[in-house]
Amino acid sequence: MSNEQLNPFAIAQSQLDTAADILGLDDSTRQLLREPMREFVVTIPVKMDDGSTKVFKGYRVQYNNSRGPTKGGLRWHPDENIDTVRALAAWMTWKTAIVDIPLGGGKGGVTCNPKELSETEKERLARGYIRAVGKILGVTQDVPAPDVYTTPQIMAWMMDEYETLRGEAHPGVITGKPIGIGGSQGRGDATARGGVYTVREAFKALNIDASKATCAIQGFGNAGQHAAKISKELLGMKTVAASDSKGGVYNKNGLDVDALVEHKLKTGSVVGFSGADSISNEDLLELDTTVIFPAALENVITGSNAKNIKANIVCELANGPSTPDADDILYDNGVFVIPDFLANAGGVTVSYFEQVQNTYNYYWTLEQIHEQLDRKMTHAFKGTYEVSKSKSINMRKAAYVISVDRVAKACKLRGWV
Ligand code: GLU
Repeated sequence: MSNEQLNPFAIAQSQLDTAADILGLDDSTRQLLREPMREFVVTIPVKMDDGSTKVFKGYRVQYNNSRGPTKGGLRWHPDENIDTVRALAAWMTWKTAIVDIPLGGGKGGVTCNPKELSETEKERLARGYIRAVGKILGVTQDVPAPDVYTTPQIMAWMMDEYETLRGEAHPGVITGKPIGIGGSQGRGDATARGGVYTVREAFKALNIDASKATCAIQGFGNAGQHAAKISKELLGMKTVAASDSKGGVYNKNGLDVDALVEHKLKTGSVVGFSGADSISNEDLLELDTTVIFPAALENVITGSNAKNIKANIVCELANGPSTPDADDILYDNGVFVIPDFLANAGGVTVSYFEQVQNTYNYYWTLEQIHEQLDRKMTHAFKGTYEVSKSKSINMRKAAYVISVDRVAKACKLRGWV
């Protein structure tokens, strides 16, 4: 595929166009939903530990706020650019709509390599980002959260900088905070837990016996590690393979997930884990497991490898892991895809619970969070599955049809179109 075809924002727009065609959306609504409503690009000078100053590019895209304040994470990645942020902001719009929470979609990022930054440099970058975009953030405007390579600690520095600028408490300005300063129980593993709930529902819909099921995890970061643990805890499912940017490991009898997490913590990678063979990221995706969790970055399942996917279910914990041509091949081959903005909506759902708790200044138990998250995810899955059956379309198209319809109706109610 060409670079333009792999441009995540071009993909997000083409997915929207497909949904707009199915819904028979009028041209002005389609045009409005194809573009972000506001974009900010900022330059952030940061004092480095060696005394030099490095200049970073930062972004915040507020895609659509017809259903509520914009909401979405902040990615710190060397390849981050305005188009990845635009696409991710669009997907956040459909994500908050599919789980029906009163929020819009946004996303932000900084082009940087966090692996090369010290803790003090990260803190100065986090605070610099808030000084640059703080004015457009707020619980009634736009609320960031963690994403690839950003952490609860980074959220804590950002909240502190925002509150310092404003001179008052605003815990709801950012979610995914550490628990001691307004974070929610259950936010840390919410993305993975929500995804595993959807896999549980898919097993029921497809008559798959969970106790015999196996999975492979592409991307052993926050979402991937929790997916391995929670798959075992909730479904009794074995993880047979896991990979990260440096390589992967495979054992057909199952990996000791806790030991693997520890190994990754110590060495920085799953590579070299004892009692397992090595496997490439590419081969891992083609393993004959029940479930594959792509849990890293965009465009890993494409027109060239989709035909080799043997799993029954692809549960997209990452944003944008499959291209549109891959989708068609997977659907034709009977691979059941739980699309990203449904599969990984657990993160933003618990972020929403976090905001609600911050506003009330009253905090829920872990059991309450799990129960409410389960209800939201199960409802969203069932609604999507019904539309996919009744219209004979894949799960992604079905999810788009539901979400785009909700957002289009909100735009119409406001008199925008
Ligand atoms: N970054 C996560 C996502 O892509 C969470 C967003 C949030 O909690 O606002 O869904």
